[in-house]
Amino acid sequence: MQKTEEEWRKKLTPEQYHVLREKGTETPFTGKLLHKKENGMYTCAACGTELFSSDAKFDSGTGWPSFSEPASRKNVELRTDSSLGMKRVEVVCKKCGGHLGHVFDDGPKPSGKRFCINSCSLDFKEKSKNK
Ligand code: FE
Repeated sequence: MQKTEEEWRKKLTPEQYHVLREKGTETPFTGKLLHKKENGMYTCAACGTELFSSDAKFDSGTGWPSFSEPASRKNVELRTDSSLGMKRVEVVCKKCGGHLGHVFDDGPKPSGKRFCINSCSLDFKEKSKNK
């Protein structure tokens, strides 16, 4: 999905634009999805791609929504990030290229991964209670 930066600016809030398009980080403990517990799917706030299932969400205590694994490896891209003098692995939405957060190796077993994701880069689709 290709959009110009001007189009992204129109579609996203200033905070979402900063995180998704400028690789910003939201202030911890401020995200509206941080404490969400309902069953459903977390999608990319920019393009709607399904990114993380509520089944993989856990409370890491870091102040950002945390997941043990993506809904599908095909929907996220992992990139080496050497910014800020740290060696980290950036998590990007594969479809739109939006910055989501980072993944670390201190998550719960069995995956051992902690996908540390900015709340504002996500939307949430609740699973229908009839299913
Ligand atoms: Fe996306």
